[in-house]
Amino acid sequence: AEEMMIRSEKLSIIGQLAAGLAHEIRNPLTSLKGFTQLLKSRSKDDSFYFDTMLTELERINLIVNDFMTLAKPQLSHFGYGNVHGMLEHVISVLSHQAILMNVDLISRVSTELPDIYCDENQLKQVFINLIKNAIEAMPQGGNVVITAERLNPDTICVKIKDQGEGIPDTIVHKLGEPFLTTKTNGTGLGLMISYRIMEHHRGSLKICSKEKLGTTVKLLLPVPEGRSSETGAARSC
Ligand code: ADP
Ligand code: MG
Repeated sequence: AEEMMIRSEKLSIIGQLAAGLAHEIRNPLTSLKGFTQLLKSRSKDDSFYFDTMLTELERINLIVNDFMTLAKPQLSHFGYGNVHGMLEHVISVLSHQAILMNVDLISRVSTELPDIYCDENQLKQVFINLIKNAIEAMPQGGNVVITAERLNPDTICVKIKDQGEGIPDTIVHKLGEPFLTTKTNGTGLGLMISYRIMEHHRGSLKICSKEKLGTTVKLLLPVPEGRSSETGAARSC
């Protein structure tokens, strides 16, 4: 519990810093990009250098964008939303990337889930981060199974299960720390943002991983009072 406390304090400080920092970096970045493109168009000889500069600027841009998401809970828009609809949308957005990687996204999402009180864009961001990680964990292809069901009257359970390489023991205890990545093109921000968003929803995120066998990420989301009175058979999740 103490560790959880420290993590959530860290997250809120970082969230505040991120908001300011991301804005400050974005403007100079836009002008750097513009002038680099201009220079590139003027001198054909050095185009390799300019291309490298543009790629690196794009990488900074990616990290800054991720940070913007981190800062967004401050401008959040909560309302009633449906987990089935959100997951179907995210799955259709990611299906192209999945096909390219030889991955099947298998949806076992109940259509009878009660609406929950949430920020749809933020929750979709969590689903995108986790499903992307699942796809990226299987360079040889495989299945990602996405389940969502009513665990009990008060809780919806979403699971994302892959058959990937699993998470090395050496980094399991660090998951959720900023910039923790084992990927050449990773930012190491996806999980951190996801933990933060789940906290904002009074939900939870748990990762269960076996090396070489795969990873399952389990999300619990509360069903608002009033909507939880409808009977929902308890299930094991
Ligand atoms: P990124 O994807 O940019 O590396 P994340 O915060 O999304 O950053 O993930 C951090 C690290 O956690 C990844 O680099 C990877 O090592 C590990 N990880 C996360 N999800 C999975 C998964 N489903 N399978 C294997 N490793 C994972
Ligand atoms: Mg990721």
